[in-house]
Amino acid sequence: METLMSIGIVFNIQHFSVHDGHGIRTVVFLKGCPLRCKWCANPESQKAYPEMGWTKKECIGCGGCIKELKVLACCFEQERLIWNADVLKLPDFADDICPSGALHVIGKCMSADEVLAEVEKDQKFYENSEGGLTLSGGEPMMQDAFAGELLAKAKSRHMRTSMETCGFAPTDTAVRLCRHLDELIMDIKLLDPDRHKKWTGADNGMILRNIHAIREAYPDLPILVRTPVIPGVNDNEDELINIARLAKKLNAGYEILKYHRLGVSKYESLNREYPMGSIELSAERFEQLKRIVEQVRKTY
Ligand code: SF4
Ligand code: SF4
Repeated sequence: METLMSIGIVFNIQHFSVHDGHGIRTVVFLKGCPLRCKWCANPESQKAYPEMGWTKKECIGCGGCIKELKVLACCFEQERLIWNADVLKLPDFADDICPSGALHVIGKCMSADEVLAEVEKDQKFYENSEGGLTLSGGEPMMQDAFAGELLAKAKSRHMRTSMETCGFAPTDTAVRLCRHLDELIMDIKLLDPDRHKKWTGADNGMILRNIHAIREAYPDLPILVRTPVIPGVNDNEDELINIARLAKKLNAGYEILKYHRLGVSKYESLNREYPMGSIELSAERFEQLKRIVEQVRKTY
């Protein structure tokens, strides 16, 4: 039973996305993820609570943060702002003390109605494109009560709904949330359990159980399986062919996504090292893998 009027922690609402479901989407990013993928492009999504971020190029060096945010032990070291990221409760005024916006709070408490008021601003773009609301993260199923309320309310307002998930949640939660969806997008990054654990910090048994349980519960739900192709992790034919075959067996679509480094600066903003170093995936190699996967889709 979903609790009414739950509060969610939202770290972004992105308008006019065309990569996160059918048509033009408004993507609501919820904070918190049980995985720790080393290539994660949204590291600010991982912690389940609001946290501080700092953008060096916007800092004017006024020192306001050092003076006001004593609880975070802010200080400058080698021209970088350092603070104690383990403080769970930020002062209420934390978002207001920086005159340039360099220091900012990531994650805002919002009700489902507040989120939908923002999402509905794009309603006119949904009609022709068959777009709608996409719930993303982080892992949206970590805030399951809020996600359920938001999706149910969106459906009651005749909005099309999609959810992007890594699939890691109790199976009853995953199946329950999917009843509100017009489309599901699930990442499957690796099939080998040991390698999955090594690179994401989590077991993939639950993820694989969930995708089968969801398909069984909703035989007609459009499902798109996606694999981000990461050099040294899963950029090999066998791995991708096996995931493509699984998707086909589940009557799901399948696409691979090219590794990118757009999230690297976010690690700096969070005082964290980027775990993947300087790896790159060439466009040629990605296109080659894409052709192999497309061939599998046609022949198996
Ligand atoms: S308050 Fe903002 S602008 Fe001033 S030193 Fe801190 S981060 Fe930089
Ligand atoms: S599942 Fe997605 S949000 Fe979570 S750590 Fe991995 S890449 Fe980041």
